[in-house]
Amino acid sequence: MTDFLTLSLADITAKLKARELSATDVATASLDAAEASQGALNAFTAFDRDKTLAMAKASDERLAKGEGGLIEGAPIAVKDLFAVEGVSTTACSHILDGFKPPYESTVTTKLWEAGGVFLGKTNMDEFAMGSSNETSYYGNVINPWRAKGSDAKLTPGGSSGGSAAAVAADLCFGATGTDTGGSIRQPAAFTGTVGVKATYGRASRWGAVAFASSLDHPGPFAKTVKDAAILMQVMSGHDPKESTSLPLDVPDFIAAASASVKGKRIGVPKEYRMDGMPAEIETLWQQGVDWLKAAGCDIVDVSLPHTKYALPTYYIINPAEASSNLARYDGMRYGLRVEGQDLTETYEKTRGEGFGHEVQRRILMGTYVLSAGYYDAYYLKALKVRRRILEDFDKVFESCDALLTPSTPSGAFELGSKSGDPISMYLNDIFTVTANIAGVPALSVPAGLDASGLPLGLQVITPALDEETMFSVGAALEDAAAFNHKPGKWW
Ligand code: GLN
Repeated sequence: MTDFLTLSLADITAKLKARELSATDVATASLDAAEASQGALNAFTAFDRDKTLAMAKASDERLAKGEGGLIEGAPIAVKDLFAVEGVSTTACSHILDGFKPPYESTVTTKLWEAGGVFLGKTNMDEFAMGSSNETSYYGNVINPWRAKGSDAKLTPGGSSGGSAAAVAADLCFGATGTDTGGSIRQPAAFTGTVGVKATYGRASRWGAVAFASSLDHPGPFAKTVKDAAILMQVMSGHDPKESTSLPLDVPDFIAAASASVKGKRIGVPKEYRMDGMPAEIETLWQQGVDWLKAAGCDIVDVSLPHTKYALPTYYIINPAEASSNLARYDGMRYGLRVEGQDLTETYEKTRGEGFGHEVQRRILMGTYVLSAGYYDAYYLKALKVRRRILEDFDKVFESCDALLTPSTPSGAFELGSKSGDPISMYLNDIFTVTANIAGVPALSVPAGLDASGLPLGLQVITPALDEETMFSVGAALEDAAAFNHKPGKWW
């Protein structure tokens, strides 16, 4: 019996603590389920059975002594962007072929210190560039959800698609992701899971492959808001090894996930009402407003006037930082090396063969906007607009405690339907990128199904450092939505 795989993180850890199950049983069941799903879902890029079972055994020893951390014995999947010591870590790029870091990222260190058991590395868009998981060198992930009456393969979203699919398919009890423009919240919305990013700097980026450093936010995927709060609690905290890590105590996110929202002022930003937005997204958003009203919140109409500049700003700052971060992959130190006649040709061949198309596009855009003559016109201008977007948030949070918006402009789309069209792919992040630009906390919670039976999410955004309100409003929406749908198991 492996029915326990469908339990939440909070419930499985309670059972483990009560010794109703052993960590070894749970890890074995998770590994078996994850490995068996590979042909159908392709959510993982690496397993290390010995490591997983050794960690589970150590967990069992702690549990037997009545010891153990917050997530003791629970198998957790790790986006392939995070270094896990001795395990292949490639950011799903050919250029990092064979790289096994001799160190552990801070986020995963914290997870293991809290008793988490490493389950495997999850598939993702190459260097986290994408919204559909189709840029991975290891092939796309397939969403465990399918539209009613169709067996067309759908994207789980991206870039953290493997983590989202693994949680949605009950292969693990939580997973790590990174969110640079929406890569946790968008796949969470597409897979009926909860996805969170906290304030910039709450969770350390140390040991996570850098994409766009001023926008990158590590965070969890979970089955419930409470589980997400537990995981975010574990992942957060000051890291002296990371210069942008916040030297602050971490509030009690777990308690916040069951706190009352009575009297909270919820802002509804008018700029998120886009032309051509499907009626069902609009309806769900209104439903969310009604749920929060019924829970005792006050609803206020608010404005974030610079929202329309968010995507263009993001697509200057993001490639600029990415092009500079990715300069280190030159075939000299790690990963792929393709020999040329001389040093320059070796660089060219290695980078030409090692990077996929989307990565090359970002490097070209990034070096262009940073080049002499264009720096002021593009990069500097984008930094100024970024400041305006930040000021929008500062101002709006004078009149409300949290913002409520849809997470995505649609449900999961068919694989291949947007892959030749980068602009329409970039538009996926229209509701999520602003929170990265401003560095404020944001969460996506499953709130309903679209007409074809696919999950849709609502997003809660709060002021910097106020994750507690984000978790309490998220939990209030979760209670009201009572979303208990699951993808029918076909894999
Ligand atoms: N889809 C966005 C991009 O391609 C966001 C990716 C992310 O958050 N990692 O940049």
